[in-house]
Amino acid sequence: MTNRKIAFNWPYMTGKEMQYIAQSHADGRLAGDGPFTKLCHQWIERSTGCCKALLTHSCTAALEMAAMLLDIRPGDEIIMPSYTFVSTANAFVLRGGVPVFVDIREDTLNIDERLIEAAITPRTRAIAVMHYAGVSCEMDTILQIARAHGLPVIEDAAQGVTATYKGRTLGAIGDIGAYSFHETKNVISGEGGALLVADPKMARRAEIIREKGTDRSRFFRGEVDKYTWQEVGSSFLPGELTAAFLWAQLEEADRITASRLEIWDRYHTQFAAFERDGLLRRPVVPAECGHNAHMYYILLPQHQKRQEVIDGLKAVGVSVVFHYVPLHTSPGGLKYGRPHGQLSVTDRQSQSLIRLPIWVGLTPSDQDYIVEHLGMLLRKN
Ligand SMILES: *Cc1c(COP(=O)(O)O)cnc(C)c1O
Repeated sequence: MTNRKIAFNWPYMTGKEMQYIAQSHADGRLAGDGPFTKLCHQWIERSTGCCKALLTHSCTAALEMAAMLLDIRPGDEIIMPSYTFVSTANAFVLRGGVPVFVDIREDTLNIDERLIEAAITPRTRAIAVMHYAGVSCEMDTILQIARAHGLPVIEDAAQGVTATYKGRTLGAIGDIGAYSFHETKNVISGEGGALLVADPKMARRAEIIREKGTDRSRFFRGEVDKYTWQEVGSSFLPGELTAAFLWAQLEEADRITASRLEIWDRYHTQFAAFERDGLLRRPVVPAECGHNAHMYYILLPQHQKRQEVIDGLKAVGVSVVFHYVPLHTSPGGLKYGRPHGQLSVTDRQSQSLIRLPIWVGLTPSDQDYIVEHLGMLLRKN
């Protein structure tokens, strides 16, 4: 078998990106909130049913807007998983919030909804969930707990674009959702993101926060005759060239998801025998979750073998990665947050996980190569 080079990720282009960028260029539309931004907003609102979608320059920015919309103040606690990307926590810490880290479920690696209620204190202001690998958290239970305690739910749906839970689209189930269009996600614009808001009053404030704290959006719609400073805000909107690129991707979003699912399913079928032999554990997708194949990961029974497997694959040209260093054990997490109880599932699974290449254009023959080499490494003792 000849050696290959298989990248961990490779950005997929639909072919229309340069055409739409050229159109913006020719029309002299460079600043944000132009025609392509509007098309992207409409697409997200129509496909998710959210009240208002607003493009941002990243998912991180959308999460920062969420913390501002919720008026998070110093000392306010936000319940969240420790097994997530740093932005889920950092957005709230920027406003003085304190992340309270809860353990994850064995099966989906999402926040364990059974542990949330016990983590609520008089200082709790919000519950922030993250849909890992585009597989939904147990949202009905989470919303029930949140409603009972009068707490808003923020969905970090960075990985969840086009994915569903009981037919509802991720990002539009809780009060506020955040999408990422970073180059490593399914639908991309280099850097990019979106904020999804469920409530019309909050939607009006979101427009103001995103436009430097002014009512410029209402001015552009002709609703006011001048725009002025209304409240604290910043500049969270992307330029029109980014939106033009993104529109080419959103048009193809369902096809991108379908292609990724084919690759995901192929891995899953091939690894069934590995799982039976106790070599690895495959991802679990509950029946009510329509996932988007954002990720294919495996869990090793012995985490001590992980580096050896990663190095072994690298030696035959296959790039694989792991994540996350749990936030409650990271320097930032120790400084700014606190764990709620033992986070033993987080500690164990985060050390056992390996992510495999999954991107549109990865061929069946590439996959066979990865699976074969992985099999040899896992069987080696
Ligand atoms: C990628 C990611 C982010 C950050 O997205 P950006 O658009 O790069 O800011 C946040 N949360 C999660 C869970 C992510 O996977």
